[in-house]
Parts: sequence; C-alpha cells; structure tokens
Amino acid sequence: MEIFHTIAELREKLDSHRSGGDTIGYVPTMGALHDGHRSLLTAAAHDTIGVASIFVNPLQFAPNEDLHSYPRTLETDAAMAESVGMKYLFVPSVREMYPEENLTAVTIRTITDQWEGVSRPAHFDGVATVVTKLFNIVGPCLAFFGEKDFQQLAMIRRMVLDLNQPIEVIGLPTIREEDGLAMSSRNRRLTAEHRAQASVVNRALRRGIEAIEHHERDPAAIEAIIRAVIATAPDAEAPDYIAVVDSRTLRTPDVLEGSIRLLTAVRFGDVRLIDNMGVTIP
Ligand code: AMP
Repeated sequence: MEIFHTIAELREKLDSHRSGGDTIGYVPTMGALHDGHRSLLTAAAHDTIGVASIFVNPLQFAPNEDLHSYPRTLETDAAMAESVGMKYLFVPSVREMYPEENLTAVTIRTITDQWEGVSRPAHFDGVATVVTKLFNIVGPCLAFFGEKDFQQLAMIRRMVLDLNQPIEVIGLPTIREEDGLAMSSRNRRLTAEHRAQASVVNRALRRGIEAIEHHERDPAAIEAIIRAVIATAPDAEAPDYIAVVDSRTLRTPDVLEGSIRLLTAVRFGDVRLIDNMGVTIP
C-alpha cells in the first residue's frame, strides 16, 4: 500500500488507473480505525482499486468539540488498511486541504436540520464540504459509508443525487461490540464504568424496534420506551434526541410505514455516543 500526503501525487496515480479502465472504490475516514471501518475498507478493496483517506476535518468540529483530543493512530490505521488490501492511503495535512480559508460550503437542506444538526450546528456543512472536496480529489466510482452515522449517510446520498456527482454511494451495516455497543473511535475515551453502561443505547433502540414489531405506531410512545430504557443507566445523560424517522427524509412521518429508522444520541461524561436501528413496516 502506498501512502500519499499531497493531492497532486494522489491525483497523478489515480489518473493513471482511471485511464487504464480501473474502478476506484473510496472510503473517507477520520482514522483511529476499528472493525467498523474495516468492513468498509474490505468492501472497497474488493474488485476495485481501494483508496482510503484519513483526515480529521476541522470544518466539522465546533470550537467546544473534540478536534484536538480526537484519537490519532496512523501507524496501526495504515497496517489495517494494508491488511485488507487497500491500495492507497491519502493522509493530507490541514494545510494541504485548506491552503486558504474555505469560502465555499455545501449545504444539504432539511435532511440536516434536525437531530445531529441541532446538537451540532455547522457539522453537516463541514462534512458535506470536505466529502465533496475529497470526491473531487479521489474521483471514485464507488464510495463506502457506514450506517452508524445514518443521518450523514442519508445526507451524502442526497448530495450525490442533487449535485449529479457521478458516484455510487454504498451504505454498510453498523459493526458492534459483543454487548451491542456500536463501534466508534470515541468509545476508547469512555471510562470503564461508562463503557459497561454504554450498551444501554443499543438495548434501548432494540426495545423500540420490538415495540414497532408488536404494532406500536405512535412515535411518541416509541420514543418514551427508548427513553425509559436509557434512563436505567445511572450515568447516561438525557438523550440529545430520540427520533423515529423515515429513512430517506429523516423526518418523523405522520404514518409509520416503509423504511423507518430510530436514532438517538446519548452522552456519558464528555463522550457523546450516537446509534440507530432500522425496521421495515410493510
Ligand atoms: P469516521 O472515521 O468516524 O468519520 O467514520 C468513517 C466511516 O466509517 C463513516 O462512513 C462511518 O459511518 C463509518 N463507521 C464508523 N463506525 C462504524 C461502525 N461501527 N460500523 C460501520 N461503519 C462505521
């Protein structure tokens, strides 16, 4: 696997693949890779020239967020990417990505207004802008994202559609720890006590899904079930939101049918965890 730090060198290499007719599969990440990322990397390396990037994007962090304490583990990340067959790893500096103040922003409306968008204003513009830049740099045919960040995935699908970006977006299921906790680079910052309690988030969402499977159709009732389960963990703060939404619009529908997603964000100490689960109502 080759590692590139500059846009020009990566472009030159990928141009030569494209002109030879190769398909490029791309996985954008912020590093601190775990088995959730591994599943995306493995899928991208399969049948395509696999390219991953590691870039902790300042644009998507608010001043009070964890930009500076975000875990950085380049050596083990590179080893994982190489072990699953990634061909290229792009690790640009902030200066390389933003040589000047970025005056251009990509905004995807409505899908980003609620949920994470309320708790983290400006986050999604930062993600959409950097992902567009990275798409322009890498020029992939296929791009792989995790359902773990479900609102982000829905936003990117819509962005690619609205802007005619010639990319197929592939969403892959959330990879979890044995107790159900969704894998996340932030989990390593949980205290042992909080880690032991954190599986409550997934348990709560599963209870919400079970309620729907038992014909509960009132979003408020489903939210209340999820809230009550989360409240059983002594150190879980009140969730930032609990949402029962349509998977594509991310809005709470008047009538629950089709592809429905339950989303929540819960803080343990200074670590904020997000998770979601889906169900299809015929
Ligand atoms: P990040 O490095 O956190 O920006 O994540 C990079 C990509 O990995 C995003 O598409 C995430 O949705 C995805 N991802 C993160 N955690 C998981 C997980 N537990 N399972 C599947 N995908 C994940």
